[in-house]
Amino acid sequence: MRRPKLIEVIFRNLVTKPSTVQYPREKTEVEPDSRGIQYADLSKCTGCSLCSIECPADAIKMTLIPQEYEVPKTNPRRLFPLINYGKCVYCYRCVKICPVNAYIVTNKYDIASSTRYTSENLSLATLKKVVSS
Ligand code: SF4
Ligand code: SF4
Repeated sequence: MRRPKLIEVIFRNLVTKPSTVQYPREKTEVEPDSRGIQYADLSKCTGCSLCSIECPADAIKMTLIPQEYEVPKTNPRRLFPLINYGKCVYCYRCVKICPVNAYIVTNKYDIASSTRYTSENLSLATLKKVVSS
């Protein structure tokens, strides 16, 4: 088999587009079902702690839901799973093990942050706030 000459390779590369992208200015495409961040829908979560107990990376801390949120009667201890995405290994064991299918999954992967990034805001946004009279 004939080996391409160096000069041919140089000319070919001059006229072809680069294979790499300028991330993060250019976003890379990901498969729709790829594993990104996940968070609990607190209108379904019962605060049972099973996902936290089973997490192999110790990334889930059961946390008290702040008083200003309306919590379903099925969650009498007012607890929710707070995920530290910096520790999570995206095995989705929590998603599969939840007895009430409370987890919402996404394909969001660009989570690099200089601050601690958790599921707190995403999960609390699934609850209504108490209307003060
Ligand atoms: S995906 Fe895996 S590592 Fe991440 S929080 Fe769930 S159980 Fe823990
Ligand atoms: S998300 Fe599911 S497994 Fe985790 S505490 Fe809530 S109900 Fe239990």
